[in-house]
Amino acid sequence: MVALGVDAQPFLREQPVANSTDRRVYSTMQAHTGDSYANTWNVGSAKKLSGKIYVLEVWLTRPGTSWSKTDMGNVQYKINNALAWLQRMAARYSVAVEFVSGSYHGDGGGVEMAGLPTSYDDCANQPLLLPRALKVVGYTDVFQCYNQLQSIAGTDNILVLLLINNNGWSNANQFSTLHATNHFRDYFLESVNVFRTDDGMPTNGQTIAHEILHLFGAWDMYGGQASNAAGQWAEKNYPYEIMLQVSSPLDDLTISPLTAWLVGLTSEYHEWYWDFVREEYKN
Ligand SMILES: [Zn+2]
Repeated sequence: MVALGVDAQPFLREQPVANSTDRRVYSTMQAHTGDSYANTWNVGSAKKLSGKIYVLEVWLTRPGTSWSKTDMGNVQYKINNALAWLQRMAARYSVAVEFVSGSYHGDGGGVEMAGLPTSYDDCANQPLLLPRALKVVGYTDVFQCYNQLQSIAGTDNILVLLLINNNGWSNANQFSTLHATNHFRDYFLESVNVFRTDDGMPTNGQTIAHEILHLFGAWDMYGGQASNAAGQWAEKNYPYEIMLQVSSPLDDLTISPLTAWLVGLTSEYHEWYWDFVREEYKN
């Protein structure tokens, strides 16, 4: 099935990138999962974990509050750890990654914005948090921001971290070409909502790296998202996979061939990859 409207968007016709390796991965995925996962692979503003990647940080806080220096420093430290770890994972596959960062942090206490989410459900109910935040810091819309960052940074691999001065549950906003029929211009720029504390615990680098990997196309590998049988298989074979668990220290975590394949680091292919497709998406 082809998503209606995709052809009507000249911009989206260019995706996914059409070299022969990419075409092979895309059609393999299409054959096993239909549009559901194929439409999130190598699309949007965060395509592959390779080359130059621009990371825009937007530090948000409720009106009348501000980020403390300590909290901001702590979260920035975790972000830096996560990015360095992602670089190391890519380097294992001889893929060079360079992160370039920009930041909106107000006067140092964050950018005030009303209606910030305080939970996972809030995030799900606020799909337009990113365009709203970008307006607050002075962009017209998502695409104006994307185009401007692309021209300044000289890369089309761009992601946004919304750092939210609340307790919450960090999550990724991954682009799918299915958004073509549903205001894709509001979703094209891929982002992660990172909370000051994550489910009551200090935000950690593992979670930030896990969510960023989703933007590049990685799948969850734990039971509940994948099937329980697949989750148990991963626990046995790749216990330190970051898409399986984030409770070990970041430096102990790694990526399995599946995650490496999905984010574009390797062409190594195994049939077991398809065990991790959610039941409702299996062809
Ligand atoms: Zn996840």
